[in-house]
Amino acid sequence: MERVIRNKIKIGISSCMYGSNFRYNGKGYDITKHIGRDRSNFIWYPICPEVNGGLGIPRSPIHVSGESGDNVWDGSGRIRDRSGRDQTDKLISGCVDGLRQLKENQIKVYIFMEGSPSCGIYRTSLKNNRLGKPPGVFGSLLLKEEIFLIPAMDLQSPIKKWDWFRRMYSFLWVDEMIIDSKDSLYEMWHTVKFLCQEVDEKRARILGRKMANLGKYVEDEKLSEMKREVLMMLRKPSSLSKIKNRLWKHYKYYEKKMKLDVEEVYEPRDNVSMGRLAKKITEIELELYDRGEFFSLSPILNRSGR
Ligand code: SF4
Repeated sequence: MERVIRNKIKIGISSCMYGSNFRYNGKGYDITKHIGRDRSNFIWYPICPEVNGGLGIPRSPIHVSGESGDNVWDGSGRIRDRSGRDQTDKLISGCVDGLRQLKENQIKVYIFMEGSPSCGIYRTSLKNNRLGKPPGVFGSLLLKEEIFLIPAMDLQSPIKKWDWFRRMYSFLWVDEMIIDSKDSLYEMWHTVKFLCQEVDEKRARILGRKMANLGKYVEDEKLSEMKREVLMMLRKPSSLSKIKNRLWKHYKYYEKKMKLDVEEVYEPRDNVSMGRLAKKITEIELELYDRGEFFSLSPILNRSGR
């Protein structure tokens, strides 16, 4: 089976991170400039739940009154602006519309603005040392819909960007795969298991053991459950040190194997050397692919722009 993605990937993105001045204070930032030339390999769908819901620009900043954005959906939380006005209905309508756009266009990936009470996933406040009440209202929907979520600011770091993208390609590849037998399940697992082990070793080993113990006949429900478990592992955030250590170890291995020019890359200690390593490793991935070899660190490649 081919381990490449050839069609352009559709990506939803918080509008204010796509250069639209949609934030409550009329500001925005184009985070996609950090993707460089590869930016045109994707189809972008900017979405802003607050503006979609009719909150306007500029607007009074909103906050969640309740435990988190989840509570807005179960009816126990509300959204208020700074002057105490209830903006719950407007935001709900903007979020529902945003989700409709994602679903109608079969978009499985969303780059979100962390720190927003709407789009935030792991924090809904930008203030230092305060997480706010995560997830945000739109973030809550995206988590439940099992969308692949990338924090926008991580794209500024070459290593984190490389990590998110290799996992996004694997996530989309697994998601597309029809798992209707033990053979197809094993094929999928053989392809992405090293990546899953890297993200969550314990969970991956448990899943590996469960697969090894499957009986002769496996129900469709069980196959879907295992596929879902893999998808959930692939979207789990990783840490910079974890990514860097794995990347460097593998780089050294392939450096020897491929007799690379060792002058060019040093063990990364800062952003510049990490950027150089990420660039080098991307070249290795493509070279290995062209030679017909399997690169377990990035099992699925994106060749949509080539
Ligand atoms: S709702 Fe989301 S897209 Fe809109 S301004 Fe806030 S963070 Fe950006």
